[in-house]
Amino acid sequence: MEKFSPHCVKCNVLRCSTIEKKGRVPSSCPTVKYKDLIEETKEKYNLPENQAVIQGWQILMSRILDPEKPREKYSWTRVDEIIEYAKIRGMKKLGIATCYALLFESKLLSGILEENGFEVVSVCCLCGEICPQDVGLKGNIFCNPILQAEVLNREKTELNIMAGLCVGHDILFLRHCKGETTPLIVKDRALGHNPVAALYISQNNFYKDRFTGKSA
Ligand code: SF4
Repeated sequence: MEKFSPHCVKCNVLRCSTIEKKGRVPSSCPTVKYKDLIEETKEKYNLPENQAVIQGWQILMSRILDPEKPREKYSWTRVDEIIEYAKIRGMKKLGIATCYALLFESKLLSGILEENGFEVVSVCCLCGEICPQDVGLKGNIFCNPILQAEVLNREKTELNIMAGLCVGHDILFLRHCKGETTPLIVKDRALGHNPVAALYISQNNFYKDRFTGKSA
C-alpha cells in the first residue's frame, strides 16, 4: 500500500496544474486516490474562519501578481506580504514568537510592524523561567514554546509570526497556538536562516555528498 502513497514531487503529468485536465495521472495521485477528501475539504473552505483566510490570500495575490505590473511580484519580501495580509484582514494586534537567539531580528520586525500601525506583542522562548528538571530535561535553561503560544492566546493576537523557533519547539508552538500563525524566520544555524539554500547547494557538484553521509 505504501508504494501507492502520493508522490507529487515525482509526477511527470502534473495534470493538476493544467486547465485542460488531459492526461492519465499516476494511480497514487491524491486527486484520484482521495476523492472523498476533496468534498470534505470543499466544506472546510466554506467555514467562515477559512473563508476569511483564503479571501485575504486572494486579495494579497491580486496585488502581488498584478498583470499590469509583471515585475511587481519580485519586489514583495515576506515581511511585505505579512504586513499586507494583516492589513487586508483588518488585523490590529500581531504577535511575535521569537527565539532568544533571534531577539535582535525580532526587535527589527517589531519596529517595522509598529511603524505600520500594528500593536505588537512579542514573547521570547525563554519566558516562564521553568527549571528544565521540572519537565524531565537536563541542563540549565528551558525554552517554553507552549507558554509562548498560551501567552499569545491570552493576549488575543490576531496574527502570530514565528521567528527562529527550533525544530520541535515550532511543532509545540503550532500545536498550542490558537491564532493564525505564519513563519518569517526559519532557523538554520549553518545558512543564515535560509534553509532552502541547503537544497540549492545539494545540486552543486562540490556539495553532492553533503546530505547523504557518503564520503566523496
Ligand atoms: S496531484 Fe496528481 S497530477 Fe498533480 S502532481 Fe500530484 S500526482 Fe501529479
